[in-house]
Amino acid sequence: MTARLAGKVAVITGAGSGIGRVAATLFASEGAAVVAADVVAQAARDTVEQIVDAGGRAVAVAADISDESQAADVMTAATQQLGGLHVLFNNAGIFPGDDGGVLDTPPSTWDHVMNVNLKGVWLCCRAGIPAMVDSGGGSIVNVASFVALVGAATAQVAYTASKGGVLAFTRELAVEYARKGIRANALCPGPIQTPLLEELLADPDRRNRRLVHIPMGRLGRPEEVARAALFLASDESSFMTGSALVVDGGITAAYVTPE
Ligand code: NAD
Repeated sequence: MTARLAGKVAVITGAGSGIGRVAATLFASEGAAVVAADVVAQAARDTVEQIVDAGGRAVAVAADISDESQAADVMTAATQQLGGLHVLFNNAGIFPGDDGGVLDTPPSTWDHVMNVNLKGVWLCCRAGIPAMVDSGGGSIVNVASFVALVGAATAQVAYTASKGGVLAFTRELAVEYARKGIRANALCPGPIQTPLLEELLADPDRRNRRLVHIPMGRLGRPEEVARAALFLASDESSFMTGSALVVDGGITAAYVTPE
């Protein structure tokens, strides 16, 4: 069987941890040459080491995707070191502990979350799209969240607003580039067991408030999201653009959760 990303170059942001790291190794095992970008340089290098040890091809880039020139550096690494750009997995995101209710979230936290989670996605698209066009087209996968579709059980206004923005932005992007060979879809994961949720899950009260809303009764695993990302990144989803793929253990389908 042909590898599902054979001959493609994929950029993955936030590739140093959680969903991004698992996706980077999965995409590489499916034949992609990978740019693993992360604001934590060593984490990006560790992901690349895993890929190379497994026989894959990857380069690490230390970059803060909320900075225009650093986002551009990531795409330059794809074109100059790996020869093109076909898949852009905009996965990097943050969920600070002091992101809470409407009245108590500090404005500086709001700005930081918006800059990374929303503006960062746009900056990476802005920097990557010309390279994607030059490479003959491609697929953009933006990570939103189930909270872009329903309100969260624990207050986190900045994060939720940023992910709603990612979803709306992805639709605009999809329509603008539909006839130019670039597809764009959003992924909406439910709660996934990764370092991002560590703080929230450490508090038994907040953890239970999350779990009680998941029909499957458990958190997701990073590979369960990475496999959905692989589908959207590959040509298997060739007639999909502007969609929101929900990977949430049934949260958004349920009005009441079964016992
Ligand atoms: P994670 O914290 O394990 O990994 C996120 C990675 O992004 C980290 O390596 C971090 O260093 C990197 N990063 C943070 N800011 C960055 C920046 N400015 N520039 C470049 N890299 C940066 O988190 P995760 O759970 O794997 O999350 C991945 C994505 O999935 C995020 O967009 C997150 O919002 C989304 N998501 C996660 C969950 C969940 O429950 N874990 C649910 C829905 C959506």
